[in-house]
Amino acid sequence: MNERDSEAVAAMLRARGYRIVHDEDECDILLLNTCSIRDLAEQKAIGKAGHLAARKRRQPEFVLGLLGCMAQNRGAALLDQLPDLDLIVGTQKFHRVPGYLDNLRAARAAGVPVGATIVDVAEEADSQNSIRDHVLADRQVTAFVSIQQGCNMDCTFCIVPKTRGDERSRPMDDIVAECRTLAQNGVREITLLGQIVTSYGRRDYAHAGGTTPFVQLLERLHEIDGLARLRFTSPHPRGFKQDLIAAYGRLPKLCPCVHLPLQSGSNRILRAMNRPYSRERYLELVAALRAVRPDMTFSTDIIVGFPDESEDDFAQTRELFAAVNYDMAYIFKYSVRSGTPAATLPGQVPEGIKEERNQVLLRMLEANSRRRNHALVGTVQEVLVEGPDRKGLRYMGRTPGNRTVHFAAEPRLIGELAPVHIARATTAALYGDLVPAGVES
Ligand code: SF4
Repeated sequence: MNERDSEAVAAMLRARGYRIVHDEDECDILLLNTCSIRDLAEQKAIGKAGHLAARKRRQPEFVLGLLGCMAQNRGAALLDQLPDLDLIVGTQKFHRVPGYLDNLRAARAAGVPVGATIVDVAEEADSQNSIRDHVLADRQVTAFVSIQQGCNMDCTFCIVPKTRGDERSRPMDDIVAECRTLAQNGVREITLLGQIVTSYGRRDYAHAGGTTPFVQLLERLHEIDGLARLRFTSPHPRGFKQDLIAAYGRLPKLCPCVHLPLQSGSNRILRAMNRPYSRERYLELVAALRAVRPDMTFSTDIIVGFPDESEDDFAQTRELFAAVNYDMAYIFKYSVRSGTPAATLPGQVPEGIKEERNQVLLRMLEANSRRRNHALVGTVQEVLVEGPDRKGLRYMGRTPGNRTVHFAAEPRLIGELAPVHIARATTAALYGDLVPAGVES
């Protein structure tokens, strides 16, 4: 989501005549888009901004701004640690950044003394509609599209409702038009983004014949010529109603790959987290989705060491983790976020225990990934060819289940769905060979 927001700001700046450079030593203006989801992310951003402040003291015309969740969360209080910032702009004000920079530069050029740091972290109606412009690379095949901002769920550990505000959806027609334009520019795969995408449009659009607005949106995007694949993140388990489960059976462009945040496998901890589902309901959902698409892969988010999480609670998480057989998981050690209800709960779990539980799940995940990747050796997978891989030695693409595949190819295949015979596997990736046209798999 932050990458997408940064891209939208870059597109707005480019439209104003600013140039995006890829080496930070070459820039005149540096904007850090920040994350508050864990304390570590905030500490990293403060460290980076502190380092850049030294450059600003040497070179006063250098402009340094801090955007996004951390700006929203801390506002002007950031100046206690980072007094050299020129801009502090929150999550509902990304679209104001070009104007603020223009004003700052015009004032400096005119020799007008520039006053205090610009701090703008107010709420703004319809700000979600401003995340719409893209900076597409040459022959870019995949793109993120923001459909919604904010969240009303109030999970007790989460700072997002504070940093991103209330749930606000973009108009369906605007999203469809944006995706159509992307497809016309060669994009073949779109990932829809939002804090809780399955709640998309629930206040703005009626259910049509039992179909939620989110599924209505998927249906409309599915019709776009040129688009080959649709993905989305993050949904909420509560949002998987029958219409969405059934959509996997009737919308072939919808990739069989679901990110289904679990957070904990213990009902007691789920209640304390204010997550409105049980482990039993979660497992039912997994089974229902696999019944519609037997090739469905799952990824998840899990927090270990939530306050008062006992060995028994963790054992239930471990058991559920094994039962689902996740392809991928983002495992977090619980991080106290000040201002959230869980921050003051009794029974905070010691760091050492959090780390042990983290390692247990990481080892299980690694074994899963290795096993599942090796199981694909000898098969032929449909891969969307994205372009040269990072090392530039081969090409890379992804399977519908979101596994990365490396193979030899030619530039003309970028953007094509190609059959690749998987020859070997590591924990992280698959390696194979294109199947020549006309050769039976
Ligand atoms: S649903 Fe997700 S974004 Fe919303 S409060 Fe819960 S964890 Fe945070």
